[in-house]
Amino acid sequence: MTSVITDTCIKCKHMKCVEVCPIDAFHEGENMLVINPLHCTDCLCCIAECPIDAIAHDTDPRAEPWLGLNAQYSQLWPNVTADRGQTPRDADLFGSLTGKFDHFFSPRPGKGDAEPPVGHLPSPAQSRQGQASAWERMKKMFRRRLE
Ligand code: SF4
Ligand code: SF4
Repeated sequence: MTSVITDTCIKCKHMKCVEVCPIDAFHEGENMLVINPLHCTDCLCCIAECPIDAIAHDTDPRAEPWLGLNAQYSQLWPNVTADRGQTPRDADLFGSLTGKFDHFFSPRPGKGDAEPPVGHLPSPAQSRQGQASAWERMKKMFRRRLE
């Protein structure tokens, strides 16, 4: 059982989902995220967080066309565990579009946790959020070691 990111995520990347995942199962492409089905513990937390309903459980028929894409690209794209302002400025224009895969899918990897996207200058609020996220990741790591 796994949650699956559908093509609705393409060109949106609101990043709410990564912040709640307890096992950091998300991987970042240039313009969408995917979930590693081998790591997802099926807690369902991320589904409710996505503001554009881009994540479906694999029992949902919407998930089926994207299962393979999530499995394949989670092996190729870098892990991402924090919202560092990766949401495109024009994300709102794409939230309700259909057929996004054919027009906008990119197989190129995103930056993952390595560095902010090229050309992106974080606002002071995003910088503070990034620091908070780093702290959250450290807490997660320590929690895991204590378990
Ligand atoms: S919250 Fe939704 S739109 Fe944002 S990155 Fe996650 S799946 Fe994509
Ligand atoms: S269902 Fe839970 S474990 Fe799986 S990707 Fe979403 S938040 Fe992470």
